[in-house]
Amino acid sequence: MATLLYIEDNLSNLKLIERVLIDRPVRLLAAMQGGLGLDLAREHHPDIILLDLHLPGMLGEQVLAGLREDPRTATIPVVVLSADATPGRIERLLVAGAEAYLTKPIEVDRFLRVIDGILERELDARDG
Ligand code: MN
Repeated sequence: MATLLYIEDNLSNLKLIERVLIDRPVRLLAAMQGGLGLDLAREHHPDIILLDLHLPGMLGEQVLAGLREDPRTATIPVVVLSADATPGRIERLLVAGAEAYLTKPIEVDRFLRVIDGILERELDARDG
């Protein structure tokens, strides 16, 4: 069983991802605010983090920076899910350490390919 943390303030997006992952052996944790997302990441050390960028209180970029600078969360793969498809922003997030950047509305097949690839790699690494 893998753990996935989705940091997202929009409930319908959370429910969509929950539905999309229903057949996967994944425990889904959700945080609707950036600071809470950082807390949950440090506490539960998820196998993958999905990150929205427009969050109340703390922007997704700040959340990513906080994850990367903390040794407890520095290597957790982060996939950004954002409606913002500005090339400069995508480039900036990837340079800042995001593994992938998927634009909303989510293309389900592509999303699952990315998630399955990361989970397979992470679980292989964990099990040796
Ligand atoms: Mn948002």
